[in-house]
Amino acid sequence: APADAMLSVDQLVVDYGSVRALSGVSLEVRRGEFVAVIGPNGAGKSTLLSAIIGLVEPKSGTIKLEGRPLGSVAIESRVGEGIALVPEGRRILSNLTVEENLRVGEMTRRTDPEAARRFEDVLQRFPILRDRLKGYAGRLSGGEQQQLAIARALLSAPRMLLLDEPSLGLSPMMIEQVYETLAGLNETGLTILLMEQNASRALLAGDRAYVIRHGAIELEGDAASLRTDPAFDRAYFGFE
Ligand code: ATP
Repeated sequence: APADAMLSVDQLVVDYGSVRALSGVSLEVRRGEFVAVIGPNGAGKSTLLSAIIGLVEPKSGTIKLEGRPLGSVAIESRVGEGIALVPEGRRILSNLTVEENLRVGEMTRRTDPEAARRFEDVLQRFPILRDRLKGYAGRLSGGEQQQLAIARALLSAPRMLLLDEPSLGLSPMMIEQVYETLAGLNETGLTILLMEQNASRALLAGDRAYVIRHGAIELEGDAASLRTDPAFDRAYFGFE
């Protein structure tokens, strides 16, 4: 693995009972990179994320963060390892205020003296959330809720952000906003790995992309070339 590897996944196999969800997935994300894993429904994207954050135990294979195997790290402490997840469907607590939702994200670092400054930094980046701090999160639009989910994840001061289908259920305009936010965060040096069905948008955003299908990586390349590569459609849709 190169010296600047942030995340290295090697030959990962995950089974759900007799169903093989991932059959030997390998991928790498370098420090500061924006990488997309693109694939249709059921390809294994959520499973891959679950394995990275420790929600499912792989049958075999290794996952390393900055060279250290994550295999033995308990789920609770992975946040402390510098990984934060923005889950599919955003998982916003609708009956809590925007501020309360953010404080949930902060809880993991309650004792950190920098927490107040970080809270301020995050609000600076998401002015819409500052305007709505005391309002119920359930009243936010889908795009605003996605911003909230991202803001919440950032409060744990991650070095790497993982996102599961951030454009799911959003209008084209909101998708644009979310991706612009992600591009801005990546420019500040944050490493990003996202899972997407929305191939066209993910290929516009990322540095590199992997196509996953039936639990295996079918194709890998830099995003700009994959956009025009006929092999991309073959890999994504499984055309012969
Ligand atoms: P989606 O876009 O629907 O979330 P995905 O690419 O994230 O799809 P996964 O959810 O990782 O795909 O699913 C990969 C495979 O594993 C699918 O065949 C799915 O049916 C199966 N699977 C997922 N979760 C479970 C489970 N808890 N038990 C059994 N099989 C599962």
